[in-house]
Order: sequence, then structure tokens, then C-alpha cells
Amino acid sequence: MIVFDLLCASGHRFEGWFGSADDFARQKKRRLLECPTCGSAEVRRVPSATRANLGAQAPAQPPKQPQGPKTPAKTPEMEGKDPFAIAQMLYSKMLDELLTKSEDVGKAFPEEARKIFYEQAPSRPIRGQATNEEHDELLDEGIPVARFPIPPSDKLN
Ligand SMILES: [Zn+2]
Repeated sequence: MIVFDLLCASGHRFEGWFGSADDFARQKKRRLLECPTCGSAEVRRVPSATRANLGAQAPAQPPKQPQGPKTPAKTPEMEGKDPFAIAQMLYSKMLDELLTKSEDVGKAFPEEARKIFYEQAPSRPIRGQATNEEHDELLDEGIPVARFPIPPSDKLN
């Protein structure tokens, strides 16, 4: 059994006991979950700050030096390039970073992201493929996922 902290649309917090994370997802989908205070079926799991998993959208450790496309450090290779080319370069660097630091779980991504979120698998950054429906389901369960336009066969491997 696992216990989840749940929150209804009216802001009532309560605990739910489930046989598994799948059990929770199933009950939520069929709207079997109800707030004991107001009966609302609009119930979601509340991720606590220490347990939230960022999945594929961020590295596990915050970068030591904050950096972003808004304040690019000029490097010699950027000299003379137009802003669009520089943005492309930064974006591809960011993707490289993301891809090399995350584990490729392929089509198992939705399942794996769910397991990590519900602490049934080790917490780590992952990447993989998900259908639009699977993506929406993950978001619906409050699991943070991000979409990137990366071709399935990325050239880093
Ligand atoms: Zn309520």
C-alpha cells in the first residue's frame, strides 16, 4: 500500500491509500476518488517539494552557474553570427546537456516517469517517447514532463 497526499479543487487536503500508483491513476481516471470534505472528484496528488521529480525536463542538480539564452556568454565561435544562429547554437548545447545527462528509456517513458513520480523507481532525469495522449495523462496526474523536438534516433548515441 502507498499513501498519497491529495488535494481537491476546493483546496481540501487529505490522504488516499492505494494498492499501487497504477491503482491511483485508474481510480482518478474513473473519477472514483472523492474529497471526504466536499465530495469533489477533482482530486490530484500533491507533490511535496522534496519528493517532486523533474523527470526529463531538468537536470537532477541545479547548475552551479545559472545560464540561459537571455544572457549568452559570447564565445569566439559566435562572433559574426546572426542572433538566430546563436540561439540555435545555444539551444543545441542545451539539448546536448539534457541528452547526455538523462537516461533514455525509449517508449517506456510514460511508465518510467510515473514510477519515478510515485517513488517506485530511483529518482533520475529520463527521456524517451510518449504519445500526445500519454503526455497529457502524465500532466493530468501532476507529473512534470516537457516536450522537445528531438528526433527519436538522436545523433548522440
Ligand atoms: Zn474538498
